[in-house]
Amino acid sequence: MGVRLIIMGPPGVGKGTQGELLAERFGIPRLSTGDMIRAALKAGTRLGERVRVYYEAGDLVPDEVVLGLIAEAFDGPEAACGFLLDGFPRTVAQADGLAELLTARAIGLDAVLSLEAPEQELVERISGRRVCEACGLVTHVRLVGDASPCPACGASLVQRSDDRAETVRNRLSVYREQTEPLLAYYASSETGLTAVDGLGSPEAVRDRLLETLRCAEAAG
Ligand code: ADP
Ligand code: ZN
Repeated sequence: MGVRLIIMGPPGVGKGTQGELLAERFGIPRLSTGDMIRAALKAGTRLGERVRVYYEAGDLVPDEVVLGLIAEAFDGPEAACGFLLDGFPRTVAQADGLAELLTARAIGLDAVLSLEAPEQELVERISGRRVCEACGLVTHVRLVGDASPCPACGASLVQRSDDRAETVRNRLSVYREQTEPLLAYYASSETGLTAVDGLGSPEAVRDRLLETLRCAEAAG
């Protein structure tokens, strides 16, 4: 039996890193709307061209675009037995759309996780984030220094186009205004909301998340 999870939290809190670890642990795909959008941008598809301005400005892309991406992923073979949603839903309209998609498929959510960290830490994590152009590795200048090649494959490390300081400030305010209300939305839902401290090493945070899920399972 697979599990169905949402991991929520502000930009830079570590959703991608932790989502990847959890997805691997549970043998489920991580469905990241951010990754899907970056893939479309890179491939230069029509969808990519349509959302580029929003993405580059740190604004949300239209709800119907991400709902379409998620619906498509739900109907693929990969997600048949479970999934972890990362970076989706981000608005109340997306959460309502998700509820419809789940109801239509007669499935429910097992847990909604909320990763938390102070704003100063978020800015620091995002501004130092570097990604490998070739293999997709995500790392931080704290780990690799400022001008080094990718430790995994030797290609060059670059800053994500929406990780520049001006854009980051906008992403954080978009989060506060449009996404934070979802915490209350899920807290009062049947599934409930589980908050987890996102400070510390990736391993420490992962262990906290796993412990939380284990307890949720025992309680449910
Ligand atoms: P982060 O969580 O660090 O902000 P993501 O990769 O999740 O990074 O998102 C990057 C950008 O992709 C967002 O700023 C937005 O433009 C777009 N995006 C991703 N997911 C969604 C979504 N569910 N709804 C609208 N826009 C999205
Ligand atoms: Zn690499």
